[in-house]
Amino acid sequence: MSKIKFSEYDVVICGAGPAGLKMACELQNKSSGAYKVLLLDKKKPWQEPVFCAEAVSADRLSEFWPLKEQWIRRKISGIYFTSPSRDRAEFYSKDCGLILNRALFHKDMADTASSMGVEVHFDALCRKVKKTADGDGAWSLEIHSLGETLEVKTQVIIDATGPGSKLSTGVPELAGMEAGDADLESGVFAVVDGVEHSPEHIELFFGSDFPGGYGWLFPRDGGEVNLGFVLGRSTANQGSSRDMLLKFINEYFPTAQIKGIYGGMIACGQSKKMIAKSGFFKIGDAASCVNPISRSGIVEAIQSAAIASASVLEWLESKSATERLEIERVALDNWINSLGSAHLQLANGKKAFSEVTDKQFNRAAKRLSRLPKEKTSLIRIFFAVLFSSPSLIWKLRSFIR
Ligand SMILES: Cc1cc2nc3c(=O)[nH]c(=O)nc-3n(C[C@H](O)[C@H](O)[C@H](O)COP(=O)(O)OP(=O)(O)OC[C@H]3O[C@@H](n4cnc5c(N)ncnc54)[C@H](O)[C@@H]3O)c2cc1C
Repeated sequence: MSKIKFSEYDVVICGAGPAGLKMACELQNKSSGAYKVLLLDKKKPWQEPVFCAEAVSADRLSEFWPLKEQWIRRKISGIYFTSPSRDRAEFYSKDCGLILNRALFHKDMADTASSMGVEVHFDALCRKVKKTADGDGAWSLEIHSLGETLEVKTQVIIDATGPGSKLSTGVPELAGMEAGDADLESGVFAVVDGVEHSPEHIELFFGSDFPGGYGWLFPRDGGEVNLGFVLGRSTANQGSSRDMLLKFINEYFPTAQIKGIYGGMIACGQSKKMIAKSGFFKIGDAASCVNPISRSGIVEAIQSAAIASASVLEWLESKSATERLEIERVALDNWINSLGSAHLQLANGKKAFSEVTDKQFNRAAKRLSRLPKEKTSLIRIFFAVLFSSPSLIWKLRSFIR
């Protein structure tokens, strides 16, 4: 462990999840190391377990980071969609995704950032930001690291601190910014042994046991699986997530031996609030970049960092206040034009999707389970659910427009 080297930086990135790690690498790579970049996290990003089900699309991830066998737990070739009556529809494709070992993936990204010249400290809590007294527009960031409190000065701060980010709260210059709390939902899971499963499949569970969300079984290494669920925000007061998880496991997987229970928040809503202001940029969950329906946020965080890194570099190169304001305004447009507008559409249809009844799921699953798996495309599954109740077509029109 070492102390923070300098009192001034060009860019400080707060948070070393996938968003912060990708941002660090992109800035170094695209500027050929022209800027002094500091990457901070309160803990090592490879600290186990990472609170996540760790599922990603192989194709989407490889657009942004080269895949490496050593951090892939499983390659997935099928998805079971299971209705409340336990009827299963199977979707099969050569690439249904990957289950990552996120700890090793983060380590690989962190080593890459370090080797590119980014200064990294994973024992550093970012506590407070304020504009410096110099009147030069720079930020002062208060950090607690290795038992000491210190301040560093920086032109740009990247907030990659994840869902429900508090770094910009109460800072007058950052009023009205996205706070990573758009439709904050809770996800909870257990790592378990002793469950019969296919290591090449993930299984998703729908119905009133998972109001507003869905349950999952994701295979891990050896015989381990990750069993968990995410619930809609409106169910937040329906009881303890832990108790609901234990009920799910006891009912669906009575032979399971629980090794540990974990949980976290997921920022599942897309907003149109600013994500860049006054040299302060938000990415990943801190900018509410999660897919509102699938609740996937790993590749989305990485993509948001890749997009925002171009704005940050443009901002640093420009010395005009008007130009910088425009770059900040366009940062949101850039995200909306890539994934944000699809997320807005999904967020609109979310309520209607949560109103699909058990009967409708059962009817759709029965219909689909009669089809050979090769013929069960995701779109067919979607429409089978839709046509199990014609009234849903109207409610879900925002999806199919
Ligand atoms: C239970 C659960 C299951 C999930 N499953 C999936 C899945 O299967 N697939 C998928 O794609 N997504 C999944 N997600 C979502 C995914 O985990 C997130 O979208 C993704 O991690 C977002 O990346 P990020 O870098 O924006 O934030 P994070 O990964 O949350 O990283 C933020 C980092 O900031 C650090 N930090 C926070 N505050 C401070 C501070 N003040 N100072 C310094 N450091 C700080 C944290 O320690 C952390 O390392 C799941 C989420 C949960 C909760």
